[in-house]
Amino acid sequence: MQMEAVAYLKQKGIYITPARRALFLAFIQHEEALSQRQLSAILNGGFDRVTLYRTLELFLQKGIIHVVPGIKGRLLYTLSIKNVRYASSDHKKHLHFICTACGKATCLESIPAPVFQLPEGFTGMDTEVVVHGICCSCQNTTNNDRSGL
Ligand SMILES: [Zn+2]
Ligand SMILES: [Zn+2]
Repeated sequence: MQMEAVAYLKQKGIYITPARRALFLAFIQHEEALSQRQLSAILNGGFDRVTLYRTLELFLQKGIIHVVPGIKGRLLYTLSIKNVRYASSDHKKHLHFICTACGKATCLESIPAPVFQLPEGFTGMDTEVVVHGICCSCQNTTNNDRSGL
């Protein structure tokens, strides 16, 4: 595990255990957001469900990961800051993109979540914006298929 990843976890006030280290590594190694099931498959059943759940809860609390709403209400998790080298930068609410072809959820970190003008008497706390469509890798696959015809 890279030194900077360890330093990042410590900076977040996390005491490093094998489960936390393994889970953090799993997130680093996967660009896309992952479901609890995918995570336990990646960890190869190395930890029981309770440990996985508790570690996810801890990472969520500390802002290390955030939830991405997946297809059919499935919760996916991904790193809040993709590159721990830039850990000092704040995690901002951003748009999420879900590919209807491959089901992958992507953080569109360059696009901040919009602020809506709500009717009187309503106080917004949190805005979750999910765009459904075709991701760039599926788009490329489709184009390649076409050129092959
Ligand atoms: Zn896709
Ligand atoms: Zn995100």
